[in-house]
Amino acid sequence: MKIAIIGGGLGGLSAGLALHGKGFDVEIYEQAPELGEVGAGVQLTPNGSRSLIALGLEEEILRIGTETTGKTIYLWDTAETRDFMRLGEENKYGAPYLTFHRADLLGLLKDAMNARKPGAIHLNKCFASQKQLGDQVEVTFVDGTTVTADVVIGADGIHSSVRRSLFGPDQAEFTGCMAWRGLVPADAIENEIDMKGGSMWLGPNAHIVTYPVRKGKLLNFIAMVDRDDWKLDGWNQQGTTEEAMEDFVGWSEKVHLVVQNISTPFKWALIVRKPLESWSKGRITLLGDACHSTLPFLSQGANMSFEDGVVLARCLETSRDNVDVAFRLYEKARKERTTGIVELSAKQLTRVHNPKLKERSEGLEHIDREYEPGRVDTRYRWIYGYDAATVDLMK
Ligand SMILES: Cc1cc2nc3c(=O)[nH]c(=O)nc-3n(C[C@H](O)[C@H](O)[C@H](O)COP(=O)(O)OP(=O)(O)OC[C@H]3O[C@@H](n4cnc5c(N)ncnc54)[C@H](O)[C@@H]3O)c2cc1C
Repeated sequence: MKIAIIGGGLGGLSAGLALHGKGFDVEIYEQAPELGEVGAGVQLTPNGSRSLIALGLEEEILRIGTETTGKTIYLWDTAETRDFMRLGEENKYGAPYLTFHRADLLGLLKDAMNARKPGAIHLNKCFASQKQLGDQVEVTFVDGTTVTADVVIGADGIHSSVRRSLFGPDQAEFTGCMAWRGLVPADAIENEIDMKGGSMWLGPNAHIVTYPVRKGKLLNFIAMVDRDDWKLDGWNQQGTTEEAMEDFVGWSEKVHLVVQNISTPFKWALIVRKPLESWSKGRITLLGDACHSTLPFLSQGANMSFEDGVVLARCLETSRDNVDVAFRLYEKARKERTTGIVELSAKQLTRVHNPKLKERSEGLEHIDREYEPGRVDTRYRWIYGYDAATVDLMK
């Protein structure tokens, strides 16, 4: 079976590895002239690392990723702390919790794909349209060339053209929140900020997540701010340090130090999309952000795309002769979980930005209640404990 994957991002490449591993003839078509990623971090949570380990990448993720010792919560202005989650040696989720520079994680997947099937990644191939002809799909690219495949997978991200070609334009809704992201050189902040673990700063109108990447050489910074004057959801819009600082007036000096040292602050609007009723039509299906984009509050976008690839490859393997059945199995196995994560992620907003945090004692009370270890475990165990390689497909 010949499978064409549209999109060579984190989801497309990992799906390529999963399908190749099951003996399918995979080709990946990426619009960009080279595979690359924005300068930002990505957290590989235990469910995601379990998926990549199933693809034979354990040695690579451990070598290139950074293992965090745990996560700490900080109150926005006083910098008082509470334990959020212990990881490292105390990680109880059964697989590593690692952080990466996005380019490093993408590079690791690209190298594995190039090693396992040289020439399978085709660059400068921007999907334009598709035509289903019996048991085959003909894909046309913007440059006018075409390919024919037995199955096509749209892994072309949040603004997916494949999704649009199947189901028409989607409805996107602005959340009233925008995000800042950037990388900070460790030597600029080393003595002030914990470079071994992750942190989450909670405030009344914003929250910040930081974690080390590149073995502690850089700190990744993401902040989500209640602000309705920035509505562009592209990841490459540059802001200024001055503008970013304005969003953290009254916050701890530690936060100011980090924001002042972000190499280039980028900003994007947080947009939500309604879950799709179906992900597949005929011999085409979707994967990753193309079918279940999520707010970043649980760090699950990339992790879910890794799970999708592993499960989809298993479904196609189980039902090689009947793609309809394979896609039905895939959606059944994945939709409930991904919708649950997308919904839980949206619900985090009131937990992490809460008016109670304005005042110290009420704020600490809120944190102690919401981040009580038992509640944290209930919230995260079903996410982190999932194993895409063994989950029952027939359930
Ligand atoms: C700042 C930030 C931090 C994040 N942190 C985390 C995190 O810690 N953990 C986590 O799990 N998730 C995180 N996410 C979410 C995660 O990055 C996404 O969910 C993930 O990248 C989705 O992978 P994907 O392959 O579906 O889409 P993408 O990574 O967007 O890849 C899509 C690919 O398709 C290509 N493409 C698009 N259109 C076409 C076309 N017409 N033809 C051919 N190719 C095309 C694109 O160029 C791209 O290479 C974060 C997101 C952001 C913005």
